[in-house]
Amino acid sequence: MRQATHECPARQQRLLVKIQGYNFTIEHHPGTEIIISDTLSRLPNPLRTENVSLDVHVECVLLDEVEDMLGIDLLHFGNLKQQALQKETTQDPVLQKVKEFTHTGWPAIIQELPNELRPYRPFRDKLGMSNGVIFKGRQVIVPQSMRTDILQQLHSGHPIIEKMRLLARQSVYWPNINRNIDELVRKCKQCQEHMPHQRREPLIPHEIPITLWTKIGMDLFELDRVQYLIMVDYHSKFPVVHRLASTTSSSVANAITGIFSLLGSPTEVMSNNGPQFVSAAFQQMCKEWGITHTTSSPRYPQSNGLVERMVQTVKRNHKKDRQQEKAQQLLY
Ligand SMILES: [Zn+2]
Repeated sequence: MRQATHECPARQQRLLVKIQGYNFTIEHHPGTEIIISDTLSRLPNPLRTENVSLDVHVECVLLDEVEDMLGIDLLHFGNLKQQALQKETTQDPVLQKVKEFTHTGWPAIIQELPNELRPYRPFRDKLGMSNGVIFKGRQVIVPQSMRTDILQQLHSGHPIIEKMRLLARQSVYWPNINRNIDELVRKCKQCQEHMPHQRREPLIPHEIPITLWTKIGMDLFELDRVQYLIMVDYHSKFPVVHRLASTTSSSVANAITGIFSLLGSPTEVMSNNGPQFVSAAFQQMCKEWGITHTTSSPRYPQSNGLVERMVQTVKRNHKKDRQQEKAQQLLY
């Protein structure tokens, strides 16, 4: 219920649409507490006598309805492309694993997954399948072999980069798709020539993750000549502030590793292009923990805004605390 309707798999969307006119609270009552059972739930089935265990956890319901697939704006996917999508999905080893985990359940800890599967785990509850194609909400998960082709399709007519990203968000997904779009545009001579000079990239609002501590923003700051590392969780906006003994790349990476060991590691971290965050030590740490690292664009450093605002808040509160301390000292 915490997800936007358009982000849910098709089967949940149908249910959500049906119940959207109601205000309700969901309460679970075990069967033993329900005195009057509904007609069918307790009706003995004379044809089946063996004991059936009801302790089954339903992770995903697979649909094979053609209209589910057709109802989705598949980037104007023609019939041929839909068939290719089905075929390539079955031949993509990573997507077959995604499909398998969606059937059997995902490991409780992300570290148990091989690196190439980690990006899919955070939105495992949005995964659905229809006609052999895997969906993230309403986005088609494109198999590796078709990604270049789909990128070209997104790029047809050389739209501005934001338009490409938007189109992708509405129809297709694969890990690092935005990075692939950026690279494509950067390498395209025509796009570069027509890009207005000095144009700033618009601030792209960050998608708020649905779970705690999956996407973290981080930065360094100085307060009263002491250096600190700050991490902010994009879901809860909860800040973690750590006093640094030194600001060398390795000690910053060590401090971060310490915090991740304590609180768990996120799947994505955002930072600016500070030397500590582009250092080899930091990159190595991200690799080891299977973390995607996104940096704010040098032309638009404000895209790490959540963390920067939090730094201001922390500094302000610190100042207030000290004023209060002084005031209290004056009182006594
Ligand atoms: Zn172009």
